[in-house]
Amino acid sequence: MLIAGVDIGNNSTEVALARIGRDIEFLSSSLVRTVGLKGTLRNAMCVIDAVDRAMAAIDLTRNHLDLILLNKATPVIGDVAMETITETIITESAMIGHNPSTPGGLGLGRGLTTDICNLETTAPGIACIAVIDETLDFTEAARMINFAAAKGVDITGAIVKKDDGVLIHNRLDSPIPIVDEVRHIDMVPLGMPAALEVARVGRAIEKLSNPYDIATLFELTPDETRQITPIARALTGTRSGVVIKTPEGDVQERRIPAGTITLVGESARETVDVEMGADAIMEKLAKVAPLQEIQSQAGTNAGGMFERVRTVMAELTDQPVSLIKIQDVLAVNTLQPQHVLGGLAGEFTRGTAVGLAAMVMTQNIPMQRLAAKLTQETGVTVEIGGVEAEMAITGALTTPGTEPPLAILDLGGGSTDASIIHRDGRVRSIHMAGAGDMVTMLINTELGLDEPDLAEDIKRHPLAKVETLFHMRHESGAVEFFDTHLDPVLFGRVAILTENGPVPILHDLNLNQIVNVRRRAKEKVFVRNALRALKQVAPGGNIRLIGFVALVGGSALDFEIPEMIADALAEYGVVLGKGNIRGCEGPRNAVATGLCLSRKGE
Ligand code: ADP
Ligand code: MG
Repeated sequence: MLIAGVDIGNNSTEVALARIGRDIEFLSSSLVRTVGLKGTLRNAMCVIDAVDRAMAAIDLTRNHLDLILLNKATPVIGDVAMETITETIITESAMIGHNPSTPGGLGLGRGLTTDICNLETTAPGIACIAVIDETLDFTEAARMINFAAAKGVDITGAIVKKDDGVLIHNRLDSPIPIVDEVRHIDMVPLGMPAALEVARVGRAIEKLSNPYDIATLFELTPDETRQITPIARALTGTRSGVVIKTPEGDVQERRIPAGTITLVGESARETVDVEMGADAIMEKLAKVAPLQEIQSQAGTNAGGMFERVRTVMAELTDQPVSLIKIQDVLAVNTLQPQHVLGGLAGEFTRGTAVGLAAMVMTQNIPMQRLAAKLTQETGVTVEIGGVEAEMAITGALTTPGTEPPLAILDLGGGSTDASIIHRDGRVRSIHMAGAGDMVTMLINTELGLDEPDLAEDIKRHPLAKVETLFHMRHESGAVEFFDTHLDPVLFGRVAILTENGPVPILHDLNLNQIVNVRRRAKEKVFVRNALRALKQVAPGGNIRLIGFVALVGGSALDFEIPEMIADALAEYGVVLGKGNIRGCEGPRNAVATGLCLSRKGE
C-alpha cells in the first residue's frame, strides 16, 4: 500500500511517501509553502502540489496512491504585535545629532551660537559657535571666519545647513569642528550656550552622548541632568552632535500609555501594565500559570492583536469569538527607532517597546472538510491521522541515536511546541506563543527596515562586509578573496550571504549592529521559549530528567538557533541536537514521517 503522510503547518506543508506492508519503506518526501491558514479549504491546493512533487520524485503520479493521511492539526495560531512605550520630544530646539557623510574638523567646541554675519561685531575673547545658513557659499563663509578669528574672536565650531563642512574646513587658518547638513538651521536659537562635537571617521562622539559630560559643559543641576538624558541617548552612536541650552528648552521622555492586560489563571488573576515591560509581564504570567485567558484593553495595540487572533481562530473553527481564549503569551523588550519630535536634523532615537506574541487553542480544526475536498479533487482516500504532537515525536524517534525519554522542541513560525515521550509510551505536549515569525518581526522593527522579507533574509543568513570588489570580510572575521570581481553594487556594503549569492543591504546600518539585533532577537524568543517549554513537559519540571532533546521544525534549520539553545541547556546535561528524521531529512518531516509510521503493520 502506497501512502502519503501530509503535515499542514501554517508556514510549510510537508509530505512523506511510504510503501507499507508488513514493513515500511520510505520512498520520497517534499515540502511546499502552505497556502492559507492551516485547516482551511485553501490548503487543498498546496497539499496536492506537495503530494504530486513527492510522487514525481519516484516517477509516479497521484493515481498510484492508496491513501493520504492528514495530521490532526493542533488548533494553534500565533500573532505578533508591538507596543511603543517611550517617545522623545524636544519642544524647544535643543539638540542636533546625526551622521552627516562628511562633517569637517574634529573635537569639541563650546560657545554662544552666533550668526556668521555678526561675527565681525562680536567682542574679542567671547567663545562663539558660528551658524551658517544656505545663503553663504563656502569660500565666503571661510573668509568671514578667518577674518573674525584674526581680530581675536574665539570661534570654537560651526553649524552649517549645506553639505559644506569639509570645504569650509579646508579653507580655515585654524581648524575647528564643523557639523553640516543641518536641515532646520533656521530653528537654531542664537545667543545661546552650545557645545558641538565631531568624532573621527569610524568613531562616535563621546562627550555629548554622556549626560554627565553635558552636565559638566553646561553646569547643570541633577534635575536638569535628568532632563537632558534623552538627548544624550539620542546622540549615542552618532559621529557629530550639537547640544544647545535654551532657557525654556524642554526635553521630555514621554511614556505612552500602552494599556493593561489581565492574565487569568486557574486560581489567580493578575493585571499588568504593558508599560512595565516584558519581564514584569512574564513574571505575572508565571504567577498565574496555567494561563486560561487574557483580557486586554480595547484601543491599544495589544488589545488589537489579541482581538485579531481571536477573530481569525473563531472564523477558522466556526465558533463565537467569545469562546476563543488566549492560552499563552510571550513578551520581549525591544527598541524601536523613532523620530525625535522637534529634532533639527531628522534625528532618530531608540524608543522602548514591548513585542508580544499570543497563541490561542480551540477544540478542533475542522480537518474533515478539507479531507472531503481533497478526496473529491484527487480521487484518493483521505483520512485524518494521529494527533500532531504524537506524530511529531514518533517521527523524531527515527533520529539515529535517540530513545525515550525523548523531548522534541518544534520550532515553527507561530508557535514553539514541546512534546515528551516517556519510556512507557506516554506523550505529553504543550504549545507556546512566539517563534520564527516573532524573530523576523523583532529584526524588522529594531533595525527600522519596514521590509519583512528583508528581515526574513537577515534572519536566515550570515553577513559579510564587501571591502573591495575582490574580497569580503565575513562576520566571523574570516576574509574571502575572489578571482573575478563582485557586482559593483556590493562595494562597501554589508551583504546577506544567501543561497543565490550576496545581496546588499541598502540601509545605513553597520554589520555589528545587524548581527547584534539578529542574535538578540533569536535569544529572546527561542532560548526563553525552549526553557519555558522543556520545564513544563519535564517530569516534575526537572529538565535533567529528560534524556534526549531533538530540535525539529523550520527554525531548527537556522544557522545559529540550535547552538544558542544548546548553550542555554548545557548545564542540564541532556543530549541536545537537531533531529535527523529517518537519518536523512534533518529536522524536517517529523510529523509527515510519524503519520506514515502510525499505519505500519496494518
Ligand atoms: P509550521 O510548522 O508552522 O508550518 P515551520 O516548521 O515550517 O512552521 O517553520 C517556519 C519557520 O521556520 C518560519 O519562521 C521560517 O522563517 C523559519 N525557517 C525556515 N527555514 C529556515 C532557515 N533555513 N533558517 C532559519 N529559519 C528558517
Ligand atoms: Mg509544524
